[in-house]
Amino acid sequence: MPSPRSAGLVAVLMAMISMISMASPGTAQARSATPETASRKPDPVNLTDLRREAEKSSQALADATKALEQRQATLAKADKELKDKLEQLRTATLELSKVRQPLSDLVQSLYQVPSGGDMAPFFTGEDDASNLQALSDMTYLVSGRDEILADAGRLYQEQQKLAAEAQDLRATKLLVEAQLSVEIDTLRKRSSTVVQSLSRALVKLGVRVNQGGRSGAACDPTKVSSAAQYPNGLLPTSVLCPLQQRGRELRADAAIAFVALNEAYRKRFGKPMCVTDSYRNLAQQQAIFYRRPGFAAVPGRSNHGLGLAVDLCGGVDVFRSVQFNWLEANSKKFGWMHPDWAYHSPFEPWHWEYDPKLGSLL
Ligand SMILES: [Zn+2]
Repeated sequence: MPSPRSAGLVAVLMAMISMISMASPGTAQARSATPETASRKPDPVNLTDLRREAEKSSQALADATKALEQRQATLAKADKELKDKLEQLRTATLELSKVRQPLSDLVQSLYQVPSGGDMAPFFTGEDDASNLQALSDMTYLVSGRDEILADAGRLYQEQQKLAAEAQDLRATKLLVEAQLSVEIDTLRKRSSTVVQSLSRALVKLGVRVNQGGRSGAACDPTKVSSAAQYPNGLLPTSVLCPLQQRGRELRADAAIAFVALNEAYRKRFGKPMCVTDSYRNLAQQQAIFYRRPGFAAVPGRSNHGLGLAVDLCGGVDVFRSVQFNWLEANSKKFGWMHPDWAYHSPFEPWHWEYDPKLGSLL
């Protein structure tokens, strides 16, 4: 049974948590935009929206997880402070009882009137002065005992108060953890729903997305944030995603943006983009570097190794061709661009790159 005090605290906390949930714009947005509306229109523009939504929901999930960790840390700190206080109190109580018992015994013995009628052991005085001294000593001892009893009472009350606080704190901790884990669970489900919608949209566009299988890339843009921890040319399949062009793959966010760009290109030219190269692992980068020195970046430093670059053919590779000019004018809307260096040193009209800052909210 929680104490009335805990119940009050719990009610206040419940109110606070629901206010926080309502005030959080990320959560409100996440709740209002249903995945159903997102999956209804699997066109290229929506593909970009879906990717951004996936990135946003992944960010909201990361934020909520961080908030839970912070709350847990704060509560753990308060819990430790309380435990320390209780420990101090326990030591003080122990010390007090050590002093109290002998004193109490002594005072008790002073009250005992021996059969002879004299008050032993203090009142053995042969004169009034020593009797008076004995009386004064006894008064002192009695008042000392009373003080100690009062101290013990105060310590006991403090102990009761702290024990109640500790109980409240534990209840609060459980409540906050439960509330936040529900929130996180909702966000996690929502994130995976968006990724699923995205996968379905990509499959409809001919991308051979691996949906939950062991081999092949899965096209999950929410995994991209972990890509930075892998060296150039050593990206795991979990952050890669195949293109519509057979055998080609890129980092998931770049790939999804490329599919959208490819659809726009197809609308304009009646056929998909021609891709000669995309993600290159370290071994492939080395092979190209030694085969065509000067034409490929030093292995481990190419944007191909980050899954963020393509080499194109089919006209785009010819500087100032219709295809090149169209791509130059339109690719930025999809996060893709022809880097400055590729205009002259070395001159590589076929080389195009994805810039996450152009194409992503993250
Ligand atoms: Zn290239």
